[in-house]
Amino acid sequence: MARKGLKACTKCNYITHDDFCPICQHETSENIRGLLIILDPVNSEVAKIAQKDIKGKYALSVK
Ligand SMILES: [Zn+2]
Repeated sequence: MARKGLKACTKCNYITHDDFCPICQHETSENIRGLLIILDPVNSEVAKIAQKDIKGKYALSVK
């Protein structure tokens, strides 16, 4: 049995262990690259550029 790794949403890139994104309910993928951590979405320039308004971890690229 394969070890359950990190996955990321194919739509919003949110990182989770689940098969579906807890935010937008889209499918997740294990084929992820990079990591973006948003701690303070309201005041973070990175969050604005990445258009993330929910605190959490995101993949930079999901295939
Ligand atoms: Zn999502």
